[in-house]
Amino acid sequence: PDSGTGRPTPSPLPLRPAGQSGLALPVVALGLWQNFAHRDAFARQREIVLGAVDRGVTHLDLANNYGPPGGAAEESLGTLLARDLNGLRDELVVTTKAGYRMTPGPYGEGGSRKYLLSSLDASLRRLGLDHVDIFYSHRFDPTTPLTETIGALATAVRSGRARYVGISSYSADRTREALAVAADVGVDLTVTQVSYSMLNRWIEEPTAGGSSLLDVAGDAGLGVVAFSPLAQGMLTDRYLADVPPASRAARGGPLRPELLTTENLERVRRLDALARAQGRTLARTAVAWAMRDPRVTSVVVGASSLDQLDETLRAVDTPRLSEDELAAVAQLPSD
Ligand code: NDP
Repeated sequence: PDSGTGRPTPSPLPLRPAGQSGLALPVVALGLWQNFAHRDAFARQREIVLGAVDRGVTHLDLANNYGPPGGAAEESLGTLLARDLNGLRDELVVTTKAGYRMTPGPYGEGGSRKYLLSSLDASLRRLGLDHVDIFYSHRFDPTTPLTETIGALATAVRSGRARYVGISSYSADRTREALAVAADVGVDLTVTQVSYSMLNRWIEEPTAGGSSLLDVAGDAGLGVVAFSPLAQGMLTDRYLADVPPASRAARGGPLRPELLTTENLERVRRLDALARAQGRTLARTAVAWAMRDPRVTSVVVGASSLDQLDETLRAVDTPRLSEDELAAVAQLPSD
């Protein structure tokens, strides 16, 4: 797509099918969790989103609560969809989610039918859209029967508010249960969105039931959308020397400075050295690593500048990881 910014249109990103569905997704998606708050300059937000779309990153990942304040990222994208991306709606995959706290009171979080559907309506208003492409249950809610949560996703599809639905951060066992409930309810779950990076490989670990989340998803034809492949910036050169003032860790964001332990930074330095020995940056290598399994449909990256996204996108043309790199990752703790 050409958002009209006059940039040369690069070759499109490779597409992968979302599980067994007919939905093809670009291997890299842009997430608007961070960097799309009210305090972030709108001109920068616009540059990142339009630049992403120009580069073929047509899968834009949101949730009701992305901001702050909650709803801010959807409002920003809504403005861009109306002003700059008008006419490109059907070339984009816009997602949103509900599950975490959005509004006060008993109906402002969780997995109830009441919350999920009213939250989806509010998301559509902020986005200025009549449907999203994927609507997710953002988290498993132990206080709501799974039939109710998955039933609400089915309603979202049947009422036309969502083209596809998925789940996010459900364990392997919960995912198996959700798939069984979805089959009963008569709705297809298309994707599961889960954290996955060289430093966080829980989706590869077999659970008590014997299968990993990747196996459960792969066997069921459920696409895996992997988020935070850069471990929020740790798997880049961002923190190798110090904590830069504009970085996520310095701004009081969700990358808590206590995660930047000497031990973790030593691991990152080793991975960085191995990547550089192959003539690549660590950021590029980390994203290439996260997309190496074909069961991973898309990796969702964040970016606080278009330059960062450009660097990350070089993962697509990066040669296979070396045996040394794969072995070094396999030796790390899995989360
Ligand atoms: P990443 O792991 O890709 O981290 C992105 C951050 O890393 C950027 O904001 C930037 O931080 C830094 N960075 C990115 N590229 C580079 C680069 N080339 N060089 C140096 N630093 C770089 O992903 P996020 O944690 O941002 O998550 C991505 C998306 O995943 C979210 O926006 C959201 O859509 C989704 N997500 C979903 C969740 C769920 O529950 N389903 C939970 C979390 C995320 P800095 O600000 O320091 O520049």
